[in-house]
Amino acid sequence: MAGEHILETQDLTKEFTGFVAVRKVNLRVRRHTIHALIGPNGAGKTTVFNLLTKFLRPTAGQILYNGNDITQSKPAAVARSGMVRSFQISAVFPHLSVRENVRIALQRPLGTSFHFWKPERSLESLHARAEQLIDDVGLTQFRTAIAGELPYGRKRALEIATTLALEPELMLLDEPMAGMGGEDITRIAELIQTVAKNRTVLMVEHNLSVVAWLCDTITVLQRGEILAEGPYTEVSQNPAVIEAYIGT
Ligand code: ADP
Repeated sequence: MAGEHILETQDLTKEFTGFVAVRKVNLRVRRHTIHALIGPNGAGKTTVFNLLTKFLRPTAGQILYNGNDITQSKPAAVARSGMVRSFQISAVFPHLSVRENVRIALQRPLGTSFHFWKPERSLESLHARAEQLIDDVGLTQFRTAIAGELPYGRKRALEIATTLALEPELMLLDEPMAGMGGEDITRIAELIQTVAKNRTVLMVEHNLSVVAWLCDTITVLQRGEILAEGPYTEVSQNPAVIEAYIGT
């Protein structure tokens, strides 16, 4: 199980009625790294994420997670096995406090009802774990704040906390810096670094300076295909990348 790559795709392909959005993509994500998926709009990044988390069914190809073929698995089974995509902000309950949101996330058994207590977890340990998660994402002073009233960057931190509640081994982050300014970007980037210490992160991100600073490996997609892959220093020097993406 302990191969070098936590996630691997083999010729992953998705066709939408005659249009190939993702074509024979061989993505390899090394364990305990931060890996970015970048590319211009329409390159296929979201489609790849949707294929990985099983919200879309591939037209062809395989997805291997920890060496196991999960191509036919259901979304909840994939999440249970440790690959978890960050929740959209809309999945945070805006009228509840930060603390209540994290507690609910901790109680949420994947793939079934929200209103169900994990029997093995006592209320006391659940509450302690919630406080720990709140501290971990830097929301200590916001624990009683109403989620819907949090500043934008803090909402993203809460989103990460609710994802961490599911104890992911591989965390998929969808544009974690989208819509953020300088201070929030630094805070979330540092949070991602902390989160990645004992897990793997795969993220779609448009902010190239963040990607350059944060990510070990970058995969550049263009028109559904991998154009280049490697560390930022390498990828950013690739003439095809400069022409197709960075130079535009
Ligand atoms: P990115 O996330 O890199 O911007 P997407 O994965 O969203 O790119 O889209 C890749 C291409 O696939 C785009 O041309 C988009 O219009 C197309 N596409 C995405 N989803 C669908 C769909 N459900 N039906 C048809 N075409 C789609």
